[in-house]
Amino acid sequence: MKQAAANEENRQRLVDQRQTARPRVSVVAPVYNEQGNIRPLISALQEVFQRLADEADFEIVLVDDGSADSTWAEVVAVAADVLELKALRLSRNFGHQNALLAGLFNTEGDVVITMDGDLQHPPELIPELLANWRLGYDVVNTERVDIGENSLFKRKSSHFFYHVFSRLTEVRLTQGTSDFRLMDKKVLNSLLMFNDVRMFFRGAVAWVGFSTLTVPYRLQPRHSGTTKYPLKRMLGFAGSAIVSFSTVPLKIGIFIGFLTSLLAFAELSWVIAQYFRGITVPGWASTLGIVSLLFGVLFILLGTMGLYVSRIHEALQGRPRFLISESTSGRFLNDR
Ligand code: UDP
Ligand code: MG
Repeated sequence: MKQAAANEENRQRLVDQRQTARPRVSVVAPVYNEQGNIRPLISALQEVFQRLADEADFEIVLVDDGSADSTWAEVVAVAADVLELKALRLSRNFGHQNALLAGLFNTEGDVVITMDGDLQHPPELIPELLANWRLGYDVVNTERVDIGENSLFKRKSSHFFYHVFSRLTEVRLTQGTSDFRLMDKKVLNSLLMFNDVRMFFRGAVAWVGFSTLTVPYRLQPRHSGTTKYPLKRMLGFAGSAIVSFSTVPLKIGIFIGFLTSLLAFAELSWVIAQYFRGITVPGWASTLGIVSLLFGVLFILLGTMGLYVSRIHEALQGRPRFLISESTSGRFLNDR
């Protein structure tokens, strides 16, 4: 009881502190072939910063994930005018999660907000994210309310993924969360300690804990350009996320092994019993059936093991998860 009161007192102290604080907020967005979205994104963010000018300072960290279009040229041009914009260019395309990681390593804020660079994640939600940080939450996740911005297939497959992921892992993911969230510096520092070969931020953020709140938002249509996650890439991402957070697929073999041994034992007992009754059971066809079934199962399990072994292989290589080829510096608004 005493402990509960002490906890409450601590929480209240944190809330009081944050209510009056003037935090430095870093907004991180990875951009890959988003040439048409850079200017609209920056203006939308600046509008929000303007509204919050009395209560926080902002910097923007854009990470060009090896774009092949004129994204980098756009970013550099905008950075010349927008002092709070810091930009990094990766040496090639390293993928959304690694680009995000590169950005996070280069933030200086007390609070960081990550979002997509295609304006699907509305910057107008930032005041609400920040208000919840002031209420003492260290992670403010967002949950998309998607009324048809994504295709039916994308919505259904995403639903299926969250279901399978939650079944196979001990991390609880909320349906419809993406990498649009606010994190306190201490959460960020915990994430930067991860050595995962393939970061899956949604899982990692759920894994680290901390006081978390989820707020809904309405998913916006892409401002310009097309999605960088076609089906093949989405499947790869989903599989990789499961390998990162679950070893259940490795253990499925044990279950199937027990089951098939049991069936084989029953069949064999029956064959022997028949033999003693003077009947020889014919049936090379059924034998062949069983053998090919088991071979099928065996190859699937072998492949599954391969997924994990290849992950160990990658981890042993210990290659960098991103490489920065160019950068521009930025500063917080009040540092000018
Ligand atoms: N992205 C990236 N590298 C990639 C793929 C995507 O930096 O290899 C960025 C992309 O520019 C966008 C965000 O990640 O800002 C989300 O990608 P996208 O909008 O294509 O995904 P969707 O919203 O369609 O799921
Ligand atoms: Mg998008």
